[in-house]
Amino acid sequence: MVNPVVALNAVNLTTATGLLAARVAGCPITSRDGYWEATGYRWRFPDAGAFTIGCVVISRQPVPAAVWEHETSHMRQYALLGALFWPAYGLAAGYSLLRTGDWWSRNVFERRAGLAAGGYAQNPVRRLRRARKRPSAGTAAGAVTA
Ligand SMILES: [Zn+2]
Repeated sequence: MVNPVVALNAVNLTTATGLLAARVAGCPITSRDGYWEATGYRWRFPDAGAFTIGCVVISRQPVPAAVWEHETSHMRQYALLGALFWPAYGLAAGYSLLRTGDWWSRNVFERRAGLAAGGYAQNPVRRLRRARKRPSAGTAAGAVTA
């Protein structure tokens, strides 16, 4: 029986994109649990030990089982969203950066995949500053005038 995540990510072309990215980055590709693993990634971006494109986990070195599980959660997210995963992830990362100062703590994709399994330390939410109200002329009761 065909794994539906593999089938969907084949149709939405995210796995093909991941295989191409791994090839361009010079990472050897092997199979793991019915998916693909590409190791030896050396580029600076993204700044992560591992990342997933479609059903391809690209990493600097082979990932432990917990991280692999985290990355397979991202595969399911790709299966739901296809290429829309990228802008959606970018928005979620931006929201997290605004609220916590990092791109993962309040990023719904990372939270659903499991922050601890992904090796992320969760930072607390920061209070958003309220814009200060400027006193407007004529409404300031008791204003002192010279
Ligand atoms: Zn992740």
